[in-house]
Amino acid sequence: MAVKTPLIVGNWKMNRTPAEARILAEELARRLGDVTSAEIVVCPPFTDLTLVADALQDSNILLGAQNMHYEKSGAYTGEISPVFLNELGCSYVILGHSERRQLFGETDDLVNRKLRAALQYGLSPIVCVGETSAVHEAGRTHDVIEAQFNGSILPVLKDCGTLTIAYEPIWAIGTGNTARPEQAGEVHRFVRGLVARAAGPEFAQGLRIIYGGSVTPENIDRLMQESEIDGVLVGGASLNPDDFACICRFEPAA
Ligand code: PEP
Repeated sequence: MAVKTPLIVGNWKMNRTPAEARILAEELARRLGDVTSAEIVVCPPFTDLTLVADALQDSNILLGAQNMHYEKSGAYTGEISPVFLNELGCSYVILGHSERRQLFGETDDLVNRKLRAALQYGLSPIVCVGETSAVHEAGRTHDVIEAQFNGSILPVLKDCGTLTIAYEPIWAIGTGNTARPEQAGEVHRFVRGLVARAAGPEFAQGLRIIYGGSVTPENIDRLMQESEIDGVLVGGASLNPDDFACICRFEPAA
């Protein structure tokens, strides 16, 4: 079975002006130019994409977007088309981040429409799923993750040549309250089981399932030692070049 390259994604959220973003991207390109043990992606705000693409041009760091619309063009004031992202050099796009779901009312159905469009226009989708702390405490994590998977991903799963699923427990995002590696690994195994049931074990094994939620230089090695964790989605720590470089240089399991 082919070994999967770990995927490390930095989600800058609504941080860094274009000028600041260029400096950060140049710094990352300088520090991470020799990393071959992981695929590295940064997802700046839309307004930074051109400058960051420029700064990363000769580097091994790929560009991603944090969101997109599902239409190619049209009367959708304030929205960004997948075609625009493609033209700016984006390889990846994050879809259904919990902040989009919670603050901007994105539903599983909408995420699924975006997923279809990402596939159609050649962007590699990173679809986020994750439960609230109330759900977690009530022991209903699997139910909620399964419902999100069924609504956002399942209808097009078999068409997903390039798909990453990000498990991001909402109670762990930006809280410093990281999921225990074995806890995250257990949910990843459950998600992989859902994929296997729908698309077969080989497809499921080839799929990268990454973890997000307060990943830091201190916890990355242990997280990446879990066999079910194929990479990480990093928010806060991706804005600090020291921290992000450290995360990208995690020590793989012996
Ligand atoms: C995120 O927003 O996807 C995230 C994981 O954030 P943080 O690393 O800050 O918890």
